[in-house]
Amino acid sequence: MRTLRTVADVRAAVSRARRAGASIGLVPTMGAFHEGHLSLMRQARERCDRVVVSLFVNPAQFNEQADLDGYPRHEDRDAALAAGAGVDFLFAPPAEAVYPPGFSTTVSVAGVTEALEGAVRGRGHFDGVATVVTKLFNIVSPDVAYFGQKDAQQVAVIRQLVRDLDMAVQIEVCPTVREHDGLAMSSRNARLSGSERTRATALARALASAKDQVAAGEQDAAAIRASAIAALASGGVEPEYFELVSPDTLAPVQRIEGEVLALVAARVGATRLIDNDIIAQAGIRRR
Ligand code: AMP
Repeated sequence: MRTLRTVADVRAAVSRARRAGASIGLVPTMGAFHEGHLSLMRQARERCDRVVVSLFVNPAQFNEQADLDGYPRHEDRDAALAAGAGVDFLFAPPAEAVYPPGFSTTVSVAGVTEALEGAVRGRGHFDGVATVVTKLFNIVSPDVAYFGQKDAQQVAVIRQLVRDLDMAVQIEVCPTVREHDGLAMSSRNARLSGSERTRATALARALASAKDQVAAGEQDAAAIRASAIAALASGGVEPEYFELVSPDTLAPVQRIEGEVLALVAARVGATRLIDNDIIAQAGIRRR
């Protein structure tokens, strides 16, 4: 595996691969790799001839300086893990290579960015995501780009971006990888203290309880939401939001009809966690 620092070096490596007829897979990340990241890399390795992983803690998508400053950074360990997953190129640029002096363009997706994470973290978060992902797509020009279902709203934003701007890239979404007790893997989990780590399992439990209620025939979204919030409270967690939405538009649903995505965000101590799950499938007839 080669580590590349500049846009020019990535372009040279990718165009050599393309001339040899190779397909290119891209996995955008902010590092501090765990099994979630590695599952994306392995998927890319299976499907594409060359795999590029970007490792860039994108300042533009952080709405809190403390979150950015405290974000875990372990490039040597990450490089070893990526190499082990069969990655060909690790693109780990310094911030100036991505945002040189005079940089003044923002890519902004409307609609799906407004609720949930957009409402809590502010407009700038998804602007930062859309701008850096657009740049990465332009730098790497991948055939396929891999994202995690863990960040469900980010997936909806990127699908909208690709559709609206006619980007010639296929978006692949990989399932959320969880710890044995259900906690969704996240680079931020490392910041949880012992007791916070225990409380953090309430997010996955609340999603599971919502799914159980749907399976038992409950169709009223407000009732499901209220009991999921109660499940969080009994685990010592107060959510920033717990919402039931349609997976593509992220529009809130009132009744369980067709596919329904439940999303939750909560602070556990100083650490902000998010999780989600499809709690109702399309095409299942209900009472
Ligand atoms: P990040 O480094 O947090 O920006 O994540 C990079 C990519 O990995 C994103 O597409 C995430 O959705 C994905 N990802 C993060 N955590 C998980 C997880 N637990 N399971 C699957 N994918 C994940």
